[in-house]
Amino acid sequence: MGDENPKGSISRRQFLKGSAVTPLALMLAGGAIASVYLRPADARGFTLRPPGAVAEKRFLAACVRCGMCAQACPYQAIKLAGGEAGAGIGTPVITPRETPCYLCQDLPCVKACPSGALDKKLEDIEQVRMGTAVIIDRESCLSIRGLRCEVCYRQCPLIDKAITLQLRHNTRTDEHTIMEPVVHKEKCVGCGICENSCVLPKPVIVVRRTVEVQKDSYDF
Ligand code: SF4
Ligand code: SF4
Ligand code: SF4
Repeated sequence: MGDENPKGSISRRQFLKGSAVTPLALMLAGGAIASVYLRPADARGFTLRPPGAVAEKRFLAACVRCGMCAQACPYQAIKLAGGEAGAGIGTPVITPRETPCYLCQDLPCVKACPSGALDKKLEDIEQVRMGTAVIIDRESCLSIRGLRCEVCYRQCPLIDKAITLQLRHNTRTDEHTIMEPVVHKEKCVGCGICENSCVLPKPVIVVRRTVEVQKDSYDF
């Protein structure tokens, strides 16, 4: 009970863990805020929809563009697409680098949807599948380079399930341990909190379409 957040599922423990970032990470985060790298919804190759969204083609047909899901989101994570979305104009999108989905326990966005575009059968937040996070630039990831960061790991609402740390000897320094964040695609819900929290100006962990991640080789 004491670990619960009435607004969402991020527990105080996770918040405190996430707050325990290293000075290096904080310094880099400052740089990230200064340069505000925003990733347009379609730059990732697909549009990140709210939890429970049915397959994209059906979604575009079902969504009545009422904006009820956006209105219900306590974090204002859901925005309605503009004219650049073509046929998708007015549909709900999430841009994690601006505001990720904080995975509310009661999924108010799904409950608010009157059209079935967000499937009400979804009740368990661990069953959300918006996409899958992948590390797209291993050479830039601070943790993989042997520095202490692990911010994405600590911020993940499914810490130690969707993302774990894999420890191995640092052969470059020969005396330290590399703590590599590893995403487990069968558990990752695609909320984008890791992408949002990556301390680098251009995030090296991003949410991709789950199907593509499963097809290709984003395995560690
Ligand atoms: S589950 Fe995510 S998108 Fe839905 S209301 Fe909560 S934060 Fe917003
Ligand atoms: S509530 Fe449902 S129908 Fe309305 S904009 Fe959101 S997804 Fe579309
Ligand atoms: S998208 Fe990132 S933060 Fe969200 S569940 Fe997956 S690994 Fe965790």
